[in-house]
Amino acid sequence: MPRPRKRFGQHFLVDQQALEFIAELAATNRGEAAVVEIGPGRGALTRPLLGHLDRLVAIEIDRDLVAHLREDLADPRLHLVEADVLDVDFGQLATDEGVERLVIAGNLPYNISAPVMFKLREHADLVDRAVLTLQKEVADRLISSPGSRQYSLVTVLLAQCAQVEIHRYLPRGAFHPVPKVESAILEIRFEPDRVPVADLALFERIVRSAFSQRRKMLRNSLQSLTPLLQEAGVSLEEVCSQAQVDLTLRAENLSVENYATLTRIIDAAR
Ligand code: SAM
Repeated sequence: MPRPRKRFGQHFLVDQQALEFIAELAATNRGEAAVVEIGPGRGALTRPLLGHLDRLVAIEIDRDLVAHLREDLADPRLHLVEADVLDVDFGQLATDEGVERLVIAGNLPYNISAPVMFKLREHADLVDRAVLTLQKEVADRLISSPGSRQYSLVTVLLAQCAQVEIHRYLPRGAFHPVPKVESAILEIRFEPDRVPVADLALFERIVRSAFSQRRKMLRNSLQSLTPLLQEAGVSLEEVCSQAQVDLTLRAENLSVENYATLTRIIDAAR
């Protein structure tokens, strides 16, 4: 059995109840969607998933674990892909599987949780939902409300297109080797138009601009929008006054709806 590798964030989930819980959540009510596991590792979650499915795609970066799984879990229903999930073309994968939607499952390695979140969000129209184990701190950030310390860029971007729910927290001892932090089982249900925005790229630009200097007032943090606003022939003051957003607020005080309103007003002025 290959030894756990730190650089791939290998903390294997050993709590059987939690594994079965994740597998059931991912496998039920999935309609025609294909289930894709990120980082099968030694197969701890792969096995209960296969208990519910006729077909499973699993993407693993560690060549030694892929070789181990090919021997240990030889199952015609399992399609094992040796790759970095961040490089995998989800659209192509869905086409290859003959489906329009994907359900993503996995006990995510800590080092790639943020890029995976951004990737899932980019594919909100393709991913039906994701059932993931994440470090508690990241999970709490994803469900945080405006005004809280955890409320951040990724919170707003996901809130625009998804409902996020924490099902349960997992103690450090649920994993081997034992990690430094607690984890959470999280479900993200994607609804691309949960909060409709006039232009998604513009929305993202505004939110990124505000959070690029989250300690500063919007009057300063939104300065990077000046060239865009000049082109549109409006000032930041006019836009914010129309949106009823006070320029002395900070990025973390605005709801996703506030950001959507700013987007609509700037888009209309262009
Ligand atoms: N699912 C297993 C479990 O719960 O016991 C393993 C979980 S472990 C936290 C994360 C797994 O993701 C490891 O097997 C690791 O090798 C794999 N991994 C890490 N980075 C990856 C990446 N970029 N793409 C695909 N798999 C990755």
